[in-house]
Amino acid sequence: MDLEYSAEYKDFQEEVRAFAKNHGHKSPRGSAVARPTEQAREWQALLIENGYAARTIPKQYGGYGAEPDILKNVIIAEELNRAGLNRGLSNQGVTMLVPTLLEVGTQEQRDKWIRPTLYGEVMWCQGYSEPGAGSDLASLRTSATEDGDDFIINGHKIWTSSAHVADMMFILVRTEPDAPKHHGISYLLLSMDTPGIEIQPLVSMTGVAEFNEVFFTDVRTPQNQIVGKRGEGWQVANTTLKHERGMLGDPDRTARQLQALIDCLKNEKANGRALMDFPVYRDRVLRLQARVKAMQYHSMRVLTCNLKDQDAGVARLIVKLNATILNNEICETAIDLLGETGTLFGDSEYVRRDGMWQYAYMYSLGLIIGGGTSQIQKNIIAERGLGLPREPKAKAS
Ligand SMILES: Cc1cc2nc3c(=O)[nH]c(=O)nc-3n(C[C@H](O)[C@H](O)[C@H](O)COP(=O)(O)OP(=O)(O)OC[C@H]3O[C@@H](n4cnc5c(N)ncnc54)[C@H](O)[C@@H]3O)c2cc1C
Repeated sequence: MDLEYSAEYKDFQEEVRAFAKNHGHKSPRGSAVARPTEQAREWQALLIENGYAARTIPKQYGGYGAEPDILKNVIIAEELNRAGLNRGLSNQGVTMLVPTLLEVGTQEQRDKWIRPTLYGEVMWCQGYSEPGAGSDLASLRTSATEDGDDFIINGHKIWTSSAHVADMMFILVRTEPDAPKHHGISYLLLSMDTPGIEIQPLVSMTGVAEFNEVFFTDVRTPQNQIVGKRGEGWQVANTTLKHERGMLGDPDRTARQLQALIDCLKNEKANGRALMDFPVYRDRVLRLQARVKAMQYHSMRVLTCNLKDQDAGVARLIVKLNATILNNEICETAIDLLGETGTLFGDSEYVRRDGMWQYAYMYSLGLIIGGGTSQIQKNIIAERGLGLPREPKAKAS
């Protein structure tokens, strides 16, 4: 296999490298759960203008409008990562709602929401999970009933990331209470300013309130804010989940974590020798490196299918499962190798890299659960991907 870039792609690589060199100082830093800062919005606009974000999204919606090209996508990611630059907005609106609207939204919804979402002017949260409806999402009970031109929503969502900073929510509601559970769901768009919404923060083990409980009491949203047909929200929800799982399995993020682990091994010492010089540590890192490489090539296969509008099938399902576990194992390895300083956190004077490993370890545990747990991913891979028998359903009591 020849993995050298051809002349055309080498030129493109030079172009991105030059962009990174000339504009890199404008790149923002910061948390993905916060609202984008002005600097983050300006950086996003610059990336789009140059075709390094929203690359294949049509110009009419504010994207760059390029033809799909897998190698160019890979080069952009490689070069921005190499330069340590932000790769643009990656919130739930940009990564999940925009592709959903492009697939199944009305023309009016695309015109209204895609551009401001891409440019960080409108921030979204995802209202799927409920107490009692996480893995078994189709059991959700938050209801929406018709009243004139509106739906009226009542119920309770949980684990809603970024709800406290979001302008809008894409929400799953039950509109047909008597239909079989997968058929009575609709997918609505909802302003978080609407009267009747109450948001309560939930603090995760990282110590940060990244997600929330959201309560709805007689909350109105216009009927034209439905995405897809009434009662067919389950299919729309799965379109969004497909993109969520892809986003959670970003191989470049994993490759960056691995590089940080390698740097850590080169810099940390035991008995005067760099940890990297101990075969037992090097062996652990090599095993992780092999899995990261395999994941990078695997994700190219998925990307190729996406760009050709083909369903990657079981290959797509493996990405989220592998990536989230691998991210966690890389952090776990770093904490192990740091020995007695490994478990330090917060403001300890001995903590390394401001406790980045410890924070990332706890955060990455959440991502193994969010977007569908590993056990659920394995069930889906077995049943839909490999055609194994469906797991037995519990009898209704
Ligand atoms: C960091 C984070 C962010 C999140 N953000 C959002 C968000 O923005 N919006 C949103 O709507 N939700 C969000 N979630 C919720 C997430 O989607 C759910 O937590 C997830 O789907 C699991 O549901 P649950 O928590 O109710 O667990 P449960 O479904 O109760 O599962 C409990 C355990 O049982 C296992 N299990 C359940 N059913 C099966 C089965 N059939 N076979 C084998 N094992 C099974 C699960 O794997 C899990 O280990 C987030 C969660 C996390 C951790």
